[in-house]
Amino acid sequence: MLVEPRTVAEAVRARADAGGDASYVAGGTDLWPNMKRRQQTPATVIALSRIKEMAEIRIAYDGGLTIGAGASLEAVARHPLVRAKYAAVAHAAEVVSTPTLRHMGTIGGNLLLDTRCNYYDQTEEWRSAIDYCMKKDGKICWVAPSSPRCWAVQSSDGVPVAVALGASVTLASVRGERTVRAADLYANDGIAYLTTQPDELLVAYHLPAPNGWRASYLKLRRRGSFDFPVLGVAAWVSRASDGTVKAARIVLGAVASHPQEIPEAAAAIVGSRLEVNAIAAAADAAYRPAKPMDNTDYTLAWRKEMVRIHVQRALALLVNG
Ligand SMILES: Cc1cc2nc3c(=O)[nH]c(=O)nc-3n(C[C@H](O)[C@H](O)[C@H](O)COP(=O)(O)OP(=O)(O)OC[C@H]3O[C@@H](n4cnc5c(N)ncnc54)[C@H](O)[C@@H]3O)c2cc1C
Ligand code: SF4
Repeated sequence: MLVEPRTVAEAVRARADAGGDASYVAGGTDLWPNMKRRQQTPATVIALSRIKEMAEIRIAYDGGLTIGAGASLEAVARHPLVRAKYAAVAHAAEVVSTPTLRHMGTIGGNLLLDTRCNYYDQTEEWRSAIDYCMKKDGKICWVAPSSPRCWAVQSSDGVPVAVALGASVTLASVRGERTVRAADLYANDGIAYLTTQPDELLVAYHLPAPNGWRASYLKLRRRGSFDFPVLGVAAWVSRASDGTVKAARIVLGAVASHPQEIPEAAAAIVGSRLEVNAIAAAADAAYRPAKPMDNTDYTLAWRKEMVRIHVQRALALLVNG
């Protein structure tokens, strides 16, 4: 069944009424293909595209920016304020997939994107031929057969940026609203990859006030015009008036089931002026804990090696603008 509410209140009521076997759909660029492949099989789908209040982008009371979860990736990437003050957010949105998908796909759907794996993102026939896997309908993980958990990969471009910026989101349900830091939204588990309750609606995405910090995002993929990331690096620094880095965050996407923050890499540049040796130390520190699994494009050894290089490049962007 398809339900099409026109307000947030109607949407959360519809979700509560539908019970456990329901999903929200925004642009549908991930959910509809997943349903076709029987990866997700909700009995009720609650469409969000008619909720006008969820598509707004406006300056927040604290000087930050509030982006409605229903804003399309294209709207986010093209918005003058996002481009001027949150270039990393605009860039992460504009490198998602293709123009058609960016017009349909929303920032909310991007932040809640399902994890991906070569053994899972396949047709029903393909998956049945290997007797499925632990993430859906099966018992075993084909990537790590003795593992008790799923290692499907966090593959959204927007997620590492949200965590690096210290952004937050507003979630709504019939129990009310709550605000959660993006860093607390994700779990390192390919199946239970979100910490939210299944009935929670992501209403808005809040970016902090642009008071002196800078951020960058760099994506690695096979085809520059199309593909999901096989590595994403988001870097954020806040500097003192003399140019010294006061605080930093470096977050890797597509190397684990969650956006992987690397505090050791951030520590390597705090106190520096982003000199070459400090950036090299941060890249080394990021390389060690990054442990991509063999379940997406390219070899895992090469993807791990590219962590070092892309962390260097993402930090160099903050030096050079
Ligand atoms: C060929 C192809 C290439 C792609 N390439 C990329 C890529 O390079 N990078 C990338 O990041 N993504 C990529 N995507 C994935 C997808 O297009 C985007 O991530 C998009 O932003 C998803 O948004 P959506 O609105 O279409 O999500 P939907 O498909 O509508 O929803 C995705 C998930 O989020 C849930 N959801 C959506 N909105 C809400 C909400 N407001 N509250 C609660 N739950 C919600 C849905 O229930 C579903 O589980 C690609 C998809 C395809 C088909
Ligand atoms: S990591 Fe394992 S359990 Fe998870 S989707 Fe891939 S094969 Fe399935």
